[in-house]
Amino acid sequence: MSHPHPELSAPPKLPRGGLRVTPLGGLGEVGRNMTVFEYDGRLLIVDCGVLFPDDHQPGVDLILPDFGPIRDRLDDVEALVLTHGHEDHIGATPYLLRERQDIPLVGSELTLALLNSKLREHRLRQTPFYTVKEGDRISFGPFDLEFVAVNHSIPDALAVAIRTGAGMVLHTGDFKMDQLPLDGRITDLRAFARLGEEGVDLFLTDSTNAEVPGFTTAERKITPVLEQAFAESKQRIIVACFASHVHRVQQVLDAAVKHDRKVAYVGRSMVRNMAIARDLGYLKVPPGVMVEAKELADLAPERQVLISTGSQGEPLSALARIAQRNHNFVHLEEGDTVILASSLIPGNENAVYRVINGLARLGAHVVHKGNALVHVSGHASAGELLYCYNIVKPRNVLPVHGEVRHMLANGDLAKATGVENVVYAEDGVVVDLVDGVASVVGKVDCGYVFVDGQSVGDVTESELKDRRILGEEGFISVIVVVDSVAGKVSAGPEIHARGHAWADSDFESIKQPIVDAVNRSIDEGSTDTYQLQQTVRRTIGRWVSNTHKRRPMIIPVVVEA
Ligand SMILES: [Zn+2]
Ligand SMILES: [Zn+2]
Repeated sequence: MSHPHPELSAPPKLPRGGLRVTPLGGLGEVGRNMTVFEYDGRLLIVDCGVLFPDDHQPGVDLILPDFGPIRDRLDDVEALVLTHGHEDHIGATPYLLRERQDIPLVGSELTLALLNSKLREHRLRQTPFYTVKEGDRISFGPFDLEFVAVNHSIPDALAVAIRTGAGMVLHTGDFKMDQLPLDGRITDLRAFARLGEEGVDLFLTDSTNAEVPGFTTAERKITPVLEQAFAESKQRIIVACFASHVHRVQQVLDAAVKHDRKVAYVGRSMVRNMAIARDLGYLKVPPGVMVEAKELADLAPERQVLISTGSQGEPLSALARIAQRNHNFVHLEEGDTVILASSLIPGNENAVYRVINGLARLGAHVVHKGNALVHVSGHASAGELLYCYNIVKPRNVLPVHGEVRHMLANGDLAKATGVENVVYAEDGVVVDLVDGVASVVGKVDCGYVFVDGQSVGDVTESELKDRRILGEEGFISVIVVVDSVAGKVSAGPEIHARGHAWADSDFESIKQPIVDAVNRSIDEGSTDTYQLQQTVRRTIGRWVSNTHKRRPMIIPVVVEA
């Protein structure tokens, strides 16, 4: 994913009156969404999320968007708009704020509340918050923003219209068009139509489900399926779902009340997020239904419901530990029911089925999306996207949020409705909107940035994850000696690899490119070893990814001599 469009070079200067769009993540993958808009020398960022490493990715804990292309221009950033509270949209914000703490953050009440608890964990307290809601209009520098309600798998999601002298951009964020959502808050097609009437010059649309024909099933359809599982269960019920899926939790709470059961949360993020959602009124907790997890254990099994994290098979989550019989206080009994009320994110299949098998081996009845309608997607299917194109009638379309196949399918839908200009971009590919026409004009260097556990704060967890990555993806160390007087590489690179079937000789062909990249970086003004180490990391990381399809842990060491 790191090298689309090899023919492209650095973009030219942005023409006066033009708008530049640079995706730094989320185009070509589902995760780490981040898009930078530039107008008149100023920048606006929409979303700043993380990507969770899958089976084939090492990315220790998290993978961030590459801030490299804007690192020197952080003072030009007017604001960071967060469309909703999912990790793939807000998760990298603390890492961006470490580089400039006073970037104004703009988002809905729930989005900013979820983000705020994250920022506090990172001890970031200097950041101005601008809470907005649908219908609000607010300007930051040359960017005039208007927010539109959209329906998604988390409450309080927003689309954003961005007006500048170059025209109007409408960014849907993640959305679907559930017509009877649990909270009654639908995607505001009337606002989409009004903006379309005014003239949408560039429409950025969620591609995740563009390949899925028809319409995404309504959340309400899950209710009777949950009810049935509750009715049939004679013992304890454990429901695993995303810790941000407030409406799914609401459905479980309601079913529990109906069947005279008590509920406890397990998993730190579940406890934290649901407290926030309850305090802000997004989750309606019926009186008397919640108890502490330890109290729950004193009740008869047929009165117990646990709502847990770990629906993606995360190895250290509550559910995985229950499946391995090493949870502190939840001990699964034969005949218990476990409901995985969640999607299966591509890449997590092995982990999830490992957990399902573990639970089944202990005698649990496991209900999951493979055998019952216990999950629906949060993203618009093809039918919904067609509606949007017909309502908005945009001049130009840039599909976002998806793998390449999703974005291409989304572009085909736009074309089918008569959109003349569909522009395809991946991370780092620069799109300019000039005189009402969008086109690809170049690319910037944009790689994966891996975070190891130290910053997340849970040492044990990170150490275990490190071990897994070392085992599965291996480890590469690169040592380069730089002559600080001559300003060039004087020895090395010396490359050592472990943990994957590599011989040290496999790396001969990348040695000269590393030397060239470091020398070039010095010529361009990099002076400290940290920057040079990032150059080394990027160069070898991209090469290993392209030639070996691996993402090992890379430890670059640049020594000045
Ligand atoms: Zn989302
Ligand atoms: Zn998303």
